[in-house]
Amino acid sequence: MRTELPETVNKALSMLHQAGFEAYVVGGCVRDMLMDHSPKDYDLATSAHPQAIQRVFAGFAMTLEGLKHGTVRVILNHEPLEITTFRVDGGYSDGRHPDAVRFTPSLEEDLLRRDFTINAMAYAPETGLIDPFGGRADIAARLIRCVGDPEKRFSEDALRILRGLRFAAVLDFEIHPDTLQAMERLSPKLNLISAERVEAELMKLLTGPAASRSLILGRAALCARMPCLDDAGYEERARALARLPRDADLRLAMLLGGLDEQALSGALTGLKSSRATAGRVQRARAALQKIPVPLENTALRLLIRDVGFAAAADALNLRLAQTGEAAFARALEELQGLRASGACLSLKDMRLDGGALIRSGMAPGPEMGRILNTLLDRVIQGELKNQPEDLLAAALEMARHKIE
Ligand code: ATP
Ligand code: MG
Repeated sequence: MRTELPETVNKALSMLHQAGFEAYVVGGCVRDMLMDHSPKDYDLATSAHPQAIQRVFAGFAMTLEGLKHGTVRVILNHEPLEITTFRVDGGYSDGRHPDAVRFTPSLEEDLLRRDFTINAMAYAPETGLIDPFGGRADIAARLIRCVGDPEKRFSEDALRILRGLRFAAVLDFEIHPDTLQAMERLSPKLNLISAERVEAELMKLLTGPAASRSLILGRAALCARMPCLDDAGYEERARALARLPRDADLRLAMLLGGLDEQALSGALTGLKSSRATAGRVQRARAALQKIPVPLENTALRLLIRDVGFAAAADALNLRLAQTGEAAFARALEELQGLRASGACLSLKDMRLDGGALIRSGMAPGPEMGRILNTLLDRVIQGELKNQPEDLLAAALEMARHKIE
């Protein structure tokens, strides 16, 4: 276990200790320390009430928007640190938000409200690891397991179902059978969870090294929230996804691969995907339908001309993951080569534009557009060099033929 804490974290812990309070790092950072990962942030939990936290850190910058959950964010050495009073969550009448939070003097009670054993540990240099629910053993066994009764925990907050699937995917952990069974039974409750939360968890899940297994194990839950995913090709897509680079957008395109254009756009809207993600998934889909057969060099260049490098690469990656055929891997290499060599595959790469044609006496208009596109096709097909003089001569020749 990594036990060294950043200086600011040690400082905050000792300031709280010196003021007579208990204080620990808790949750995800303890899990990461036990796994020898470096935590991306450290959360502190303390017996001090929020007013007391504010007194201890008087003189430091603070933000208080988390105050109703007992969280004070203190800026120490330019780094924000979230310090939260030990608390117990009240009832969950909406299946998502605790109705009220109650502060408690007991660390163990605070750990008890946390979702999974691996996330329910605390650590302080003086006390060492505090692990009342066997989180350390579950990390060693690579197991996601609820703290307490899984059915109760998922009915309090159905987001935990997706968090569990996400941790299993990202950490490459198994899911304890009781936890998995409860995920399935409580999956209808996922309809209470907002699109934003679903999307955020799903996108993290998709980039995990064990994304396929989580998607297959979590099929009932995910399809309860997104029924459009549920068809005969689900498992095959989930498996193919693992053969893609760990890129959430690309993997989402694979997951949604069974949908027609309209359903796809409905699913992306339903998830409130960002415009960048939705656009990329839709362009990849459109490009997929244009992959030429056979996929020889000129055909590849024409595909790139039609859809651009990015969508062509996405489509080839998707097809490669679906079929495993070497032709798609070769085409991807060729595409990278073309991109690196700055090959002329779009009007903006061509060393002649409308302005040059006008300067040489040609009238602007649709005919000029046709000429430019024909020039581009001839360059792509290797009939014409991408050189201003050659291009201009060919353009003037075409214009003359047109007039005659
Ligand atoms: P990540 O690496 O994604 O940040 P994390 O475990 O730190 O993982 P956070 O969402 O930052 O996850 O939450 C911090 C801690 O708060 C968790 O480790 C867990 O103890 C607790 N927690 C967060 N969300 C829930 C929830 N929905 N139900 C119960 N406990 C939760
Ligand atoms: Mg965290």
